[in-house]
Amino acid sequence: MPPRPASDDPRRRIPSTDVLLRDPRLAAAVAELGRELVKAEIQRAQQRARSGDLDPASIVDAVLSGLPAAPVSLTRVLNASGVLLHTNLGRAPLSEAAVRALAEAAGTNDVELDLATGRRGRRGRGALDALRAAVPTAGDVHVVNNGAAALALAVTALGGPGRTVVIARGEMVEIGDGFRLPELLESTGTRLREVGTTNRVNADDYARAVDDTTAFVLKVHPSNFVVSGFTSSVPPADLRDLGVPLVVDIGSGLLTPHPALPEEPDMTTTLAAGADLVTSSGDKLLGGPQAGILAGDAELVHRLRRHPLARALRVDKLTLAALEATLRGPRPPVVVGLEADPVELMTRAERIAGRLREAGVDARAVRSVAAVGGGGAPGVELPSAAVSLPESFADALRAGRPAVLGRVTEGRCLLDLRALPPGDDDELAALVLRVGALA
Ligand SMILES: *Cc1c(COP(=O)(O)O)cnc(C)c1O
Repeated sequence: MPPRPASDDPRRRIPSTDVLLRDPRLAAAVAELGRELVKAEIQRAQQRARSGDLDPASIVDAVLSGLPAAPVSLTRVLNASGVLLHTNLGRAPLSEAAVRALAEAAGTNDVELDLATGRRGRRGRGALDALRAAVPTAGDVHVVNNGAAALALAVTALGGPGRTVVIARGEMVEIGDGFRLPELLESTGTRLREVGTTNRVNADDYARAVDDTTAFVLKVHPSNFVVSGFTSSVPPADLRDLGVPLVVDIGSGLLTPHPALPEEPDMTTTLAAGADLVTSSGDKLLGGPQAGILAGDAELVHRLRRHPLARALRVDKLTLAALEATLRGPRPPVVVGLEADPVELMTRAERIAGRLREAGVDARAVRSVAAVGGGGAPGVELPSAAVSLPESFADALRAGRPAVLGRVTEGRCLLDLRALPPGDDDELAALVLRVGALA
């Protein structure tokens, strides 16, 4: 038992949890965030008051400033890493239009109801129509949870025990965090028939491997590495006449060619070149929500959609809403970042660095090099601009709330602006000033 505080000890003035929960300001927080979260924060503040760290009269203020904005532990991170699609930051940030669509769709809506007849409607038809319009060479389209699920559905529905998938040895890729596409394919009982060598494969290799067990030929875009030197691979156009379907996993989800990324395959062109089915992610270069996109021959897509596994890979109304808004709305942040003018990026960096220098921070605007990242356009270097700070800012900014993720190069902390929406510049500067004031 700790000794009882003397009667004039401020610790005797610490209000009880019940009294605090009835405080109007905290009652409002309970209505917004739930009782448990507020109670936990009250107990933390009471503890600080007991140990003399906090004036008991300031407990309510301390609780309010310690509460999160929403009952969720995910912390917002400003992406100043210079990587447009950062896997650890949740890949593509959604456009404002997509965010509004998410909020709008969060309640009940007509996702699967025909309001004209009152009968069941085709689920997600708005998003599917938008996707079909965006990929004119597709006979039909389907959406699942992510790129890996799209491939899993294709191989489950078209392959299976006793069937084989023909794939180039150099395209047996690991997509990250230890997940390997060949293992995913084999987990369905389908056997892989590897052709070619690590660095080279030709159309004859494929033709010789196709037999009456072949479910399809699979091409996988090497989206997170580059092979160079004595290499060759076979374009989809040379695999169209093998008598079996050609499935192409393009990875990043460009729907049409992008001039900044000439090596990156896109859906429309890949289908026109002869692929029967193309799969991709929704949250890479497409800039939308996490999703897997399937597009191609109408009969094949229909088979996949009616397969029992399709129900287990179904996307929710939030994904459908965000995807449709991404497709129909203004350019999403990933595309804005990809298309940013390096001169304008430098102007932004100079503005921010100037403000920071006025406040006494050792900041300067420098040229830098950004990347697409996240399984897209490997090896592509995007000229960019950054605010350069002393190295110690890197850890301090990452510890802040919201956090800022920069990168450390040659003893300096670089805040690269290519992946950061211009609307976040002022907030970035304010967060740096906060860290600078503490240093
Ligand atoms: C990213 C990627 C995948 C996996 O997609 P997810 O949406 O992460 O499941 C599969 N194949 C390729 C080529 C990729 O680039």
